[in-house]
Amino acid sequence: MSKLYAANTQTPEVCVDGDETTKKELGGGSFTVQPGDTLWGIAQATYGNGAWWEEIQRQNAARGRGADQLLIGERLTLPVIDVDAPPAEHAAGGQTPASGGERRVTDFGTFEVYPDRFIGPLPQSAEGVQVVTETTFAEREQAALSVEYSPEVEWMDEDTVEGCVVITIAGEQVAVHNKAEAQHAQWILHTLRDTYGVSVDSEAGREALWAAYDDVFMEELLKVQTTEWEYKELVAIERAFTHFAPLLGANRELSTAAGEDQGLTTLSKLGLSISGDDEDGYASDNTLGQYFQSAETVALYEAGEEYDRQLGDNMRQLEGTAIHEIAHALLWNDAPRFEQEMPFWKINQQNPKERPKDAEAPPTRYGRKSPREDLSESVMFYFMDPLTLRTRCPERYAWIDALVMSWSDRECAQ
Ligand SMILES: [Zn+2]
Repeated sequence: MSKLYAANTQTPEVCVDGDETTKKELGGGSFTVQPGDTLWGIAQATYGNGAWWEEIQRQNAARGRGADQLLIGERLTLPVIDVDAPPAEHAAGGQTPASGGERRVTDFGTFEVYPDRFIGPLPQSAEGVQVVTETTFAEREQAALSVEYSPEVEWMDEDTVEGCVVITIAGEQVAVHNKAEAQHAQWILHTLRDTYGVSVDSEAGREALWAAYDDVFMEELLKVQTTEWEYKELVAIERAFTHFAPLLGANRELSTAAGEDQGLTTLSKLGLSISGDDEDGYASDNTLGQYFQSAETVALYEAGEEYDRQLGDNMRQLEGTAIHEIAHALLWNDAPRFEQEMPFWKINQQNPKERPKDAEAPPTRYGRKSPREDLSESVMFYFMDPLTLRTRCPERYAWIDALVMSWSDRECAQ
């Protein structure tokens, strides 16, 4: 049973009032509610009889909510009363059973939620689970969803990352320098989810990768784990998504892609990638990002944190890498037409190495790998360096330009 504040609690006194009934003056002081408590149990502990629970309820009726509602941690005032045998109806009332709790896993924690009005036992809180009542839960949810910095951002060890603090937002680890960054990172995660229909969920990426490389030795797969986001990555990713806004979330139903699967619903951050799906596959640090089509997941890798060789600086590169991967996902169904319409991919069946003469080449070496990589690289340049793409690859620029213009122009497209 819980801590009883003994300061004013009176030692039971026995007095005789002339009848055969023995009366005790009990109570006073206060009582802090703990998991497992009930009003009945508190009355039992403090007055020697659970049937006096209504006295405690009445004394604490001015708490601004249902008087029979207990909140863990709240301090109840114990009235001083003369105790004798309680009326029978009190006993019945005191045994009202607790309503069952409901576990809610949210992006700001796992909660065992209990209805507000109950006098039954609160459960002992389990590890990793917070026991709250409906009212508290609603307040927490409101706070977590608000754009304002809220205490739901959990601050961890200050020295986890050099110069940074690693915090948890929506279950994801994010390295930030200050609270302004924390607040912005939180806003980004909620925007990605609410506006673009993409949840940031690194664990989903790890699972997708493990599933995709099922011929690789477990020893290597185990080297691939989730890792914390850097604040700058989230900023770059949010910018990357804005380019595709007409195809995402609620907007999608107004676009040419209406009715088609979005193809990208989760985003993850992993440390290492895997080199290939065979027994020689190994954990590698040379991949910037990857799209797992069947899992509708894009993974971004730690290698991207410093890389800047394609687009000149790291922030632009991070945005470009994200655009490349998002393009794989959202333009998946456009890639076959791109392949058909780009002369570079009209491969001579007799001599596959021979390319059509004078065919416009992909904007990067990496784009020569396949039509899909060509498309993703071209889309990256279209948004990040359109002048270069228009000068060097005018056919690709025109092709992508027509596609992008069509997204939010369904009436004209049909
Ligand atoms: Zn790619």
